[in-house]
Parts: sequence; structure tokens; C-alpha cells
Amino acid sequence: MSTVGQFLDETKALACVHCGLCLSSCPTYLETGNENDSPRGRIYIMRAIQSGQLDVGAATVRHIDLCLGCRACETACPSGVQYGALLEETRDHIEKHHSRGLFQWLLRRLVIEQVFPFPWRMQVALWPVRVIRFLRLGFLLPKFAREMMELLPQHLAKGNLPAKRLAKGEARGQVGFIEGCVMQVMFGDTNESSVELLNRDGWDVLTPKGQGCCGALYAHSGQLTKARDCARRNIAAFEGQPLDAIIINAAGCGSTLVEYGELLKDDPAWVKRAEAFSAKVKDLVTWLDSSRFAVSGSRAKVTYHDACHLAHAQGITAEPRELVKAKSGGELVELAESDLCCGSAGSYNLTEPEMASRLQKRKVQNIIDSGAEVVVTTNPGCLLQIQSGLRKAGAHHIRAIHIADYLLEVGTTDD
Ligand code: SF4
Ligand code: SF4
Repeated sequence: MSTVGQFLDETKALACVHCGLCLSSCPTYLETGNENDSPRGRIYIMRAIQSGQLDVGAATVRHIDLCLGCRACETACPSGVQYGALLEETRDHIEKHHSRGLFQWLLRRLVIEQVFPFPWRMQVALWPVRVIRFLRLGFLLPKFAREMMELLPQHLAKGNLPAKRLAKGEARGQVGFIEGCVMQVMFGDTNESSVELLNRDGWDVLTPKGQGCCGALYAHSGQLTKARDCARRNIAAFEGQPLDAIIINAAGCGSTLVEYGELLKDDPAWVKRAEAFSAKVKDLVTWLDSSRFAVSGSRAKVTYHDACHLAHAQGITAEPRELVKAKSGGELVELAESDLCCGSAGSYNLTEPEMASRLQKRKVQNIIDSGAEVVVTTNPGCLLQIQSGLRKAGAHHIRAIHIADYLLEVGTTDD
């Protein structure tokens, strides 16, 4: 047994009354049926680590690693257990006290932490991908590298937003825009669409160049010190601007941006600034005015996948559906298990490919069964996971698309 010290907020950990009402909403429990892979079981494990009853050895860490951090358990929990915060504290502790094997260490410390949060490094890393695809040399790669490549979009679009883009017509006000790391490197077109929608909706859009990674990848993988550094940088980049809101179009980033106050709660110099920043953060889908979108006239059947970090971490489910309905003329087919994680979960599909693949298949089967030809979502990780799953399933007639592109694709009332 190891003496590990306090890392969990005891009050939060004790809020769990072990009722088990969260179990049926937990994707990993649904797949394995193992109590240790459920929210209740994991909270037991966290508390046992804290009390020194369990060591942070491989067998214990396995159950925490397998957690998607999807926070579906928070939505289901009648006692208001803040599972996401408990998970981040536990993972931070694990990364300080547990030695990982070489492959996982390289993947986490080099690829995920040193490449993904830096757009220019990701740009460099993507060049070999372009060459391999162009020369059709993917078959020469080892299985893991082939699977990583399979997750990337077919069309890699780097964004280049100006520092300020003016509203179309008279401005209602001014908002800031978060470019995101993955978004600006792989989904630059979607960032363009998002800013265009905001401009059409009457907002001047500022995209400060001093911003950086939101810190979500670090927070979710147990690197809270680095996540806090990201938060401070972004707060400073947006401060001093007269902004009505700070808009994000990636649910995974948004869930961390709205929690900067919590992330910096023990930093007296920053906590108030962090709370002020977070209070202004709005997901694009809650900021756009659905009454300004005309029916598209398209007859394509549409469904909607709830990104976990929008539905569970931020409780936003109605607004995106309203926007899709406004655009599709009310034609929205509800997706079975819409809010069950697709297996993307940040970098989870890289660190836990087996479980990620099981959940990907489950999600894709539900999409196929819905009969939809278009699946709309709000997060780049979900898009990559679903697009790759649809390709693998041979469901080439179904398009997965970000809500900003979907809304813009067929015009607005202002066209
Ligand atoms: S996390 Fe909530 S729902 Fe799950 S066992 Fe604990 S109290 Fe019950
Ligand atoms: S965050 Fe998701 S995977 Fe983890 S325990 Fe909660 S419901 Fe299960």
C-alpha cells in the first residue's frame, strides 16, 4: 500500500450515495458489465486510492483509464455528484505517481501533449499524412499508425481567420471567437462557417491572436498544471476587449472554457478573472438566433448526435435541435442513444482504441438504423470518430457534418 496524500475534494467524493442510478448511462459499464468500469465503482476506487487502501498500480489505473470522461453519469446522478472534477483530480494524481509503459508514455507525453495543443506542430505532423495519402502508401504503415490516419478527415482545411470580421449590416454587438487547436488545423472551413454565421447574425467577431489551447486535453489527461497555464493565457488574450460573449464551436473545448473559474479556484490572482471569462463563454449553438434561419428545402433526412461535452458537461441539448429543426423544416429524426459517447472522448480513441472502436460501431449502427442521410454534431472529435466509423461500415451515403457547416450550407434568411 502507498501513502498518497489528499488529492480528492472529500466533499465532492462523499456526495456519491452509491445508489447506482448512473450505471445504465455509463458507456463503459454498458460494454463490460463490470462494476469497476462504472461511475459508482470508479468513485469507490478513487476514494480507496485517497485513503491508501489501493495503490496506483496498473490494475487500479486500468479502470480509471477506461473512463471516457463523458460525464453521462453527472446527467443521470440525482445527488449532483461532480464526477468530472473527481476524475480530473484523480488523473492528475495518477500521472504524478504511476509509471506508464513506453508506448503509452510516448503517446501521451509526446504525441498528445506536445503536438495536438500546438497548431503549427500539428500542421508539420500532418504533412507526412498528406504525402502518404497522395502516394497511397498507407498499407506500409503499422496497424496503429493506419488507424490513426483513418481518424483524420479526408479534406484537411487549415483556417486563417482575420483579427476582426465585421457584422453584415448593422452590428448588434461584438463577440470574441476561440479558434481551437484541432479546429483551426483540420476544420478551418468550419471556423469560417461559424464566423460567417455570427456576422450574418449581426455580430462583429474578434479572433485574438494571443489565444492558445483551451487546456481540455491536459485537464482530461491528468495534467492540471498545464491546463491552468492554458487558461491564464486565454484569459489574458481576451481581457480588455468589449465583448458581449466569447464563442466556441467545439463542445470539448467549451466544457473546459466554462470551468476556468473552477480550474483556477486556488489561484487568488486569477480566480476572479477566470470566473469573468467563463461567464462570457457561449457555445455557438446557444448564441445563434434560430428564428433567423430559413427552411432549407432539402429533403435529406437529418439526425443529431449529442456531443458528451455539450449535452452532459454543459447541459445543452435543446438549442442545437432547435437550429437543426429550423433549418430542416422540422425534419429531425431522433437518434437512439444520441447522448451515448461515440468513443472519441478527446484523445481516448488513441489511448484506448479497443473500447473506442466498440463505441464507434455502436454509434454508427444507431445512425444507420435511424435512416438518416445526414448526421449533425458540434464537436470535432465526434465528427472525426463518426466519419471514420461510417467509412469503415461502408455507409458512404450518410454525411456527418458540423452544425455550423450544416446551417450555412443551405443559406439563411439573410441570403
Ligand atoms: S454517482 Fe450519483 S447516481 Fe451514481 S451511484 Fe453515486 S450518487 Fe448514485
Ligand atoms: S464519465 Fe462516462 S465513462 Fe466515465 S464513469 Fe461517467 S459515464 Fe462512465
